[in-house]
Order: sequence, then structure tokens, then C-alpha cells
Amino acid sequence: MNAKSLSKLRQKLISERKLLEEESKKITGGNDQKTVSNSAILGKFDTHVTSDERARFISEFADEIAIEKMLEARIALIDSTIAKIDQDKYSLCENCGNLIELKRLEAMPCALFCANCIKKQK
Ligand SMILES: [Zn+2]
Repeated sequence: MNAKSLSKLRQKLISERKLLEEESKKITGGNDQKTVSNSAILGKFDTHVTSDERARFISEFADEIAIEKMLEARIALIDSTIAKIDQDKYSLCENCGNLIELKRLEAMPCALFCANCIKKQK
């Protein structure tokens, strides 16, 4: 991959990262995830809440945590991909060290393994 397409890709990753961060902020209400403390959760468990409402809240909250976790994982992956680009290690398979196919990277810029290794994993 030449330097021009690499820097394009880097830009793309950075803008995707921004979007993901905004998504994640929406979920946590702009707070740091860790400040969504137990008391905030317990505060919603008012005694007037019916058990149905409570169940609904728990499942909504679990969904949000799942999405938040997914976003975080994606952001971490983008970070490590950008780091690899900066260290000139991008497009190398993490398993065998061979170049990852260009087609594959175009479809999945954060791909960690080459097609061969993925095939072997299955
Ligand atoms: Zn490989």
C-alpha cells in the first residue's frame, strides 16, 4: 500500500473513531462511563416502579452496556490500527507476519489477519 492511500485510510479511521466516540457519549450521556455509578442505577429503582418497568429498565441498561462495550472495542481496534500505520507495521498479519491482501484491507481496514490465517482458524 502506498503512502497516499495509507494516509487516506488513516484519515478515514480517525473520522470513524470520532463518530464512534460521539455514539458512545450519547449512550453515557456525556459522562465518563465509569461515572455511571451504581447509585445512578439504583436511583432509577424507585419503590414506585412496577416490576415490569424495572425489568424493562434492566434490559435497556444491559443493551446500552453491550453497545458501549462494542463501541469501545471498535475504538480500541481503530487506535491500534492507527498506531500500526504510524509505526509502519500496517497490513502485516498478526499471526504469520505476511502481508494482508489489499482487497481484504479495503473491505476491512482494521483486519488483523490475512485470509490464509482466517481460513485456518475456521
Ligand atoms: Zn497470516
